Amino acid sequence: MIEAHRKEIIVRQQRTNRFAERLADYSIALRRGRPEILQINVGKLCNLTCVHCHVNAGPKRREIMSRETIDRIIDWVAKTDIPTVDLTGGAPEMIPDFRYFIEQVKSLQPRRHIIDRCNLTILVERDYKDLAPFLAKHNVEIIASMPCYSSENVNAQRGEGVFEGSIAALQLLNSLGYGIDSELPLHLVYNPVGAFLSPSQIELETDYKRELKKHFGIVFNNLYTLTNLPIGRFATYLRHNNNLDEYMELLINAFNPATIDGLMCRNTISVGWRGEVYDCDFNQQLGMQWNNSRSKPLFLWDIDPDSLEGREIMTGSHCFGCTAGAGSTCAGAIVEVGHLA
Ligand code: SF4
Ligand code: SF4
Repeated sequence: MIEAHRKEIIVRQQRTNRFAERLADYSIALRRGRPEILQINVGKLCNLTCVHCHVNAGPKRREIMSRETIDRIIDWVAKTDIPTVDLTGGAPEMIPDFRYFIEQVKSLQPRRHIIDRCNLTILVERDYKDLAPFLAKHNVEIIASMPCYSSENVNAQRGEGVFEGSIAALQLLNSLGYGIDSELPLHLVYNPVGAFLSPSQIELETDYKRELKKHFGIVFNNLYTLTNLPIGRFATYLRHNNNLDEYMELLINAFNPATIDGLMCRNTISVGWRGEVYDCDFNQQLGMQWNNSRSKPLFLWDIDPDSLEGREIMTGSHCFGCTAGAGSTCAGAIVEVGHLA
């Protein structure tokens, strides 16, 4: 049943893939380069239920990665030289084997860099008080959601009290050296609170740094601006407000071919909680799993990392979210321009 649904989504995507048409207009073939990042979505469990969430994550979700799957992933990574393992979710810290996962990655040679995509509030929840020191001990880079430096906007998007929890978590991270010590990078992520594109990343970073320092004494390294892709809970929100079509047009009209080389699907392998493989976390949420030539769905352990360069990337109309204006990746804007629409 799930498999049939997945195929139906992919067929529908391909039938209405305006993004592929736009690439063809520019004679662009979107293909993978060498893999540099393994981004692992360990599950949909989260302590929050944000309006913009493309994963539909929340406290009641039960899909989480098992230790057996973690072990299979570690075995695969050990045979590669992929330098960065990027953990996302949900709130990745909530799966029972989160710390085990980090310890296993850290034991590999050559050494790997680990990123934790953190919603901040989890760090100050009662059962997770020793989590921040654990992350610091293992030099885990933290990329944390912080959609605004004002309480009103953050709480509207993420829920009551989230701003206050996020501030407390950032102060805790600073006290451990995050954002100060070069071995403990701390980056913040901005995403728009509605159906519009991000302002200039550089200008917004200046504002964030000034306001967070002035009001809360908080410091951090970089701000990454992201575009909300029209999928998951954000698509439902747009539909509910009757502006899904309008938002799609905004993204399409802001298509910027200069962003193509920097798209994250070119150097990132996305892995789901069962070990299945995708071109990116957005494709993952749309069920666009890789297949082999006989249409068999592929898992990470089926993949030869040396065979990936040149592989065609699966796209859909949602991809316009990554190419609009300055572009959008898990590491922020791709090019330094303001939005075009
Ligand atoms: S956006 Fe992040 S923090 Fe918010 S519900 Fe989704 S996974 Fe959780
Ligand atoms: S959604 Fe973005 S990252 Fe994913 S395949 Fe499309 S362009 Fe690439």
